[in-house]
Amino acid sequence: MLNKKIAIVGAGITGLTAAHTLQKNRFSCVLFEKKNEPGGSIKSVKQQEWLTEYGPNTILVKDKVIHDYLLELGLHVSKQLANPAASKRFIVREGVLQALPVSLSSAIGTELFSWQAKLRVLKEPFIGRSQNPDQTIAEFAERRLGNEVLDYAINPFVAGIFANKPENLSLRHALPAMHRLENQYGSLIVGSILGMRQRKKEGRIARELISFKNGLQQLPDKIASRLQKVHYNTEILKIVREKDEWYLASKKQTFGPFSDVVMNSPLYMLGSSMFPLSESDYDRMMNVHYPPLSVVHFGFMKEQVQHPLDGFGFLVPDVENRNILGALFSSTLFKGRAPEGHHLLTVFIGGGRQPELASLASEEIFELILEELSELIGVIGEPVFADHVFWPKSIPAYHTGYDEVLETFLKIEAKNPGLYLAGNFRDGISVSDCIKNGIQLAVKIQSSKEY
Ligand SMILES: Cc1cc2nc3c(=O)[nH]c(=O)nc-3n(C[C@H](O)[C@H](O)[C@H](O)COP(=O)(O)OP(=O)(O)OC[C@H]3O[C@@H](n4cnc5c(N)ncnc54)[C@H](O)[C@@H]3O)c2cc1C
Repeated sequence: MLNKKIAIVGAGITGLTAAHTLQKNRFSCVLFEKKNEPGGSIKSVKQQEWLTEYGPNTILVKDKVIHDYLLELGLHVSKQLANPAASKRFIVREGVLQALPVSLSSAIGTELFSWQAKLRVLKEPFIGRSQNPDQTIAEFAERRLGNEVLDYAINPFVAGIFANKPENLSLRHALPAMHRLENQYGSLIVGSILGMRQRKKEGRIARELISFKNGLQQLPDKIASRLQKVHYNTEILKIVREKDEWYLASKKQTFGPFSDVVMNSPLYMLGSSMFPLSESDYDRMMNVHYPPLSVVHFGFMKEQVQHPLDGFGFLVPDVENRNILGALFSSTLFKGRAPEGHHLLTVFIGGGRQPELASLASEEIFELILEELSELIGVIGEPVFADHVFWPKSIPAYHTGYDEVLETFLKIEAKNPGLYLAGNFRDGISVSDCIKNGIQLAVKIQSSKEY
């Protein structure tokens, strides 16, 4: 066993991956989680034959690192690939579900965009780079692709990934790959084509959209089952540095000493008294907005739904003035989510677009959603299964000026040797990003010097 002893606060996917990597490399590591189970935002719930996801529904595997990590965990055995039909994604336009084009011919023929919008997109390669180093996603999309693509593609896409609005997010921080395309190639279209060719040349792994037989929860459960020291039901209230070593205090007990501490707690859970923080640093972190979101699962008998639900789901652009952000066709997406002869839908409501709707009572939310579903996909009657999860704070918004927040993290870490802040508030919000960041952090801690 090597000399360092590391404490990890929070069994979110970042903390779990970091702990697992450290332990694998023979470092002593103790994980503290305030709840009675691992996973943080990742939570799958089985009720009779309905298998629902309260947080993330899918993991996009596009890097070898993630592919290999799942293999190492032995999770390839229970891996579920998304139904190939899920490559079809719908966007609502004038109350009708239109398939998002996936090829040049479908792009030409689609009714999702007008001819003017299609011609406007063709101008994209000739539009110069932005002079603004920190533009919003909305500014970027409007300038490069035009209003209509912003409204009917980018706006719903941002709602689907970040539960937010393109006006609220920084392109560079929230969608760094898109930012790079503009910077490197001067064009999204040219950059995407060249990037695709490059990926083929490098023989990179094919992208997979996945879950597991018993839902995404299998991932944190599997990692946690391999950890030797986990304290559940243990909320860390304070961390203190004494003589170059760290001590952690819960309500009942003090733990330590530790050489390093990883805080995988969402920013809003970092109490001002948890570790020494200036008022301005604390305020900057607390100003990162996590919009409220409600997730509703509805089960219907197949004959209650007129739409074939032959795709991933649909997203609703803001300009359509509706009460939901979109819905996943969960039982089309993965097998085993609903009883035979039934459909499971997962509907999202609220977010940065309509935060006031997220916190309504379940009955009110159910009513709003049923009205939308009956208009959009021809749902008839009441659901045979209904379930509602409210996230008062869902996903951190990487706003413009996020550099200051990132600098604050670096400043705090420099002032407190051995302390690391890690989670979806930094370097990407997706489960894949968090796994990669957890692994990288473990490697950084392993190679850092002892104080
Ligand atoms: C509704 C929703 C849908 C999503 N959909 C997708 C999707 O489809 N695909 C995708 O890739 N991503 C999705 N995401 C994003 C992704 O799930 C999250 O960004 C990611 O899981 C966050 O992981 P994390 O490591 O930051 O930890 P978190 O999940 O934030 O977990 C932090 C953990 O720390 C614990 N903790 C906090 N403070 C303390 C303390 N003081 N002491 C002890 N423990 C503490 C908490 O209890 C929690 O378990 C979604 C997120 C949400 C909310």
